[in-house]
Amino acid sequence: MSRPHNGRSKRALLALAAASGVLTALVAVPASASAAANEKAAFPGKCPVAAEISQGYHDGHDGVDLAAPIGTPIFAAGPGTVTESGPASGYGQWVRIKHPDGSVTEYGHMFERFVAVGDTVTEGQRIASVGNEGQSTGPHLHFEVHRDGGTGFGDDPVAYMAEQGVSLPCTP
Ligand SMILES: [Zn+2]
Repeated sequence: MSRPHNGRSKRALLALAAASGVLTALVAVPASASAAANEKAAFPGKCPVAAEISQGYHDGHDGVDLAAPIGTPIFAAGPGTVTESGPASGYGQWVRIKHPDGSVTEYGHMFERFVAVGDTVTEGQRIASVGNEGQSTGPHLHFEVHRDGGTGFGDDPVAYMAEQGVSLPCTP
């Protein structure tokens, strides 16, 4: 996003450095600091449910559907605070968890919920069980991710969970 600006100022610096004879020192400064930070997980991730992906993430579906029998335990994908737990339109019931980096994971269609708004949860804590509530054509967990913590179109859960060290579908 800020690349053009950086590139421009870097060129100016290089010109300056070349003129003053300190080019060697400047070139030795690596640009890999932010890349290294991106490789670190934002929080310790855990597999949310033992299931198969019955519908992936695409333009018309901003989450992944993880199909499993009714009652299959659902676990918090990471540590955080419960910001929603109760009935929700389309979902039957939903749970949202806010994680340390400000991102939110969202869980829908559950049969039972075991957490309340304001609860602190740890990664891997059982928060609910798989159901078929709301607009659902078979028992599954609709798992959604919002990197900005908002309620807009969700981000790709597979890429997000991979960053936390979990490859979907997974085994808890
Ligand atoms: Zn879904």
